[in-house]
Amino acid sequence: MRIIDDRYMQHRRRLDLAWRLIQYEVRTRTISNWTQLAPHRIRALYRSYATQDHGAVKRRRGVSPYRLEIILDSTRLRLEAAIFAALCRSLDLLPTERVSQPERDLPNLDRGELLCDAYAWFRVEIPPAKITLEQGLLVLNELARGEQIELASCRSCGGVILSDRLSHGRSECAFCSRTERDQTESVAGKRTLSQKPRQHAQAGVGSS
Ligand SMILES: [Zn+2]
Repeated sequence: MRIIDDRYMQHRRRLDLAWRLIQYEVRTRTISNWTQLAPHRIRALYRSYATQDHGAVKRRRGVSPYRLEIILDSTRLRLEAAIFAALCRSLDLLPTERVSQPERDLPNLDRGELLCDAYAWFRVEIPPAKITLEQGLLVLNELARGEQIELASCRSCGGVILSDRLSHGRSECAFCSRTERDQTESVAGKRTLSQKPRQHAQAGVGSS
């Protein structure tokens, strides 16, 4: 009986995790990867729950996000991804050692449940966040692989950032780099303004 109970509980957890991932609009293939449920079971789940939910859950089709550049090139998504990844690291969801094939090695029930908890928490803390769970997962996988990006601290404020490992890129968060840019532009603007009267004066001398 114990074995049957355990199997039932395991299956129950897979279904619960699948439903949570469906609610976060994760694609079928990714859900199947994390729950070990067959795609047709997930599609059936989706149909039964989505109809009850009056279509509030959007089913995303096609391939899961795979272009990290879309996130890295967006100031907003990059910042949100860094915060989400830091949260996942604090929950030991993101391994500290490198994982060469994270898409294959990271998914399991415990981690999947924790992933949903982390994303739910993240959305409560940052309600207007735009980053999807699948985009967050893409970033987590790349951080676990450890080839392109890493979690680092902003050199000015110490806030968490996603740093490019190869390009020795941004070492400041979006806020600090903007502040620095604004100050530079402000100084440049003042120089331009202070030069203008002189230029006008010179022009005036020349024209007289
Ligand atoms: Zn900063």
